[in-house]
Amino acid sequence: MLKRNPCIAHLSSGYLFPEISRRRAAFAKAHPEAKIISLGIGNTTEPLTPHVVSGLHEEVTRLGTAEGYSGYGDETGSTALRDKISKVLYKGMVSADEVYISDGAKCDIGRLQYLFGRDVTVAVQDPAYPVYVDGSVMIGAAGPVTEGGSGYSGIVYMPCTAENNFFPDLAAIPKNALIYFCSPNNPTGAVATREQLEALVARAIEQESIIIFDSAYSSYIRDPQLPRSIYEIPGSRTCAIEVSSFSKPIGFTGVRLGWTCIPSELTFADGTAVGKDWSRLVTTIFNGASNIAQSGGLASLDEKGLAETRSLTDYYLENARLIREALCAPSFAKAGVTLYGGDNAPYVWARFPGKKSWQIFDLLLERSHVVCTPGAGFGPAGESFIRFSSFGHRAQIQEACERLAKLDID
Ligand SMILES: *Cc1c(COP(=O)(O)O)cnc(C)c1O
Repeated sequence: MLKRNPCIAHLSSGYLFPEISRRRAAFAKAHPEAKIISLGIGNTTEPLTPHVVSGLHEEVTRLGTAEGYSGYGDETGSTALRDKISKVLYKGMVSADEVYISDGAKCDIGRLQYLFGRDVTVAVQDPAYPVYVDGSVMIGAAGPVTEGGSGYSGIVYMPCTAENNFFPDLAAIPKNALIYFCSPNNPTGAVATREQLEALVARAIEQESIIIFDSAYSSYIRDPQLPRSIYEIPGSRTCAIEVSSFSKPIGFTGVRLGWTCIPSELTFADGTAVGKDWSRLVTTIFNGASNIAQSGGLASLDEKGLAETRSLTDYYLENARLIREALCAPSFAKAGVTLYGGDNAPYVWARFPGKKSWQIFDLLLERSHVVCTPGAGFGPAGESFIRFSSFGHRAQIQEACERLAKLDID
């Protein structure tokens, strides 16, 4: 038989979400009467909005006509959509030909890892969205979990804790690193300030490193002082790639559409433009995003679409506010629980001092039939934290909040 790819064998088996499902299913089986509510998974729940739906329909209709039919499109996306993203979302800070349309940010992150190969040193915020680390292990840029340690070998984990306001110590960034940075952050809900991003860009330039900036939640930023893109920071065009997505702003988690920006100034050590290799790579292993999805994405960026995006993200932000409010109940205060995030991000990050993440997970499941996400699943520094997601129907969120507010967590 063929040998198993050792890089994939290096992944530790306990992947977060299957373990959550396992525990949830076991509880449901033992307590069939329990009405379990999930505040656990980062998946959108509300329907697509009307103007975006009309954008999708338009393309479907067009494809059904002899004049309007099209097959494979440009692998890097439709010109109209790239133009619109450049103008509307980046105010020209990146040009249309520096925007590459994709089937989503997670998929692009996987392909970006392919672009940098296995000889790169990876630095991540800890905790972090799992694909940064797991994808690095799959490609061989990181090794197996170190013995006695809690992380993979070859990954520079940069703890983001309450003590450092969820912004890492940049001194940890080594030379020639690939730095994953997510703001607004999943899972902590923290949003980096302009000064913090200026420091990040300065450090990346100093260390001849490249930042992969994940801005999947930028549409949740309400504070006008907070940057929505890394390109708002001078110097970033020489050191940063930005990946983003239509999943969280307009509920395209199932429709699938995202993009990556690679400025023309960004080069490898030998002077080759990173964008040149990216074009080569995506034209080889990716055949372009769905034309229907692109038409919907385009609609979301005109005036009506932007208003819909705003109200949809407002809805989830209101859920986040309700969750925060519930977690301010006396029993949480008594247990010393502290809350972070949830104001410019759809996640509330709660610290339960003296308890392990999975312990709190079990407690919330058993006593209030609420599923959450254990912080430890996002990296060693997530231990003792719980992530509450605001993606849910209002009535369900309200019911979960009522149960949480009544919970005795001692
Ligand atoms: C949801 C999410 C994405 C989006 O991924 P898609 O593949 O575009 O659906 C990207 N980054 C983070 C941190 C996310 O939470």
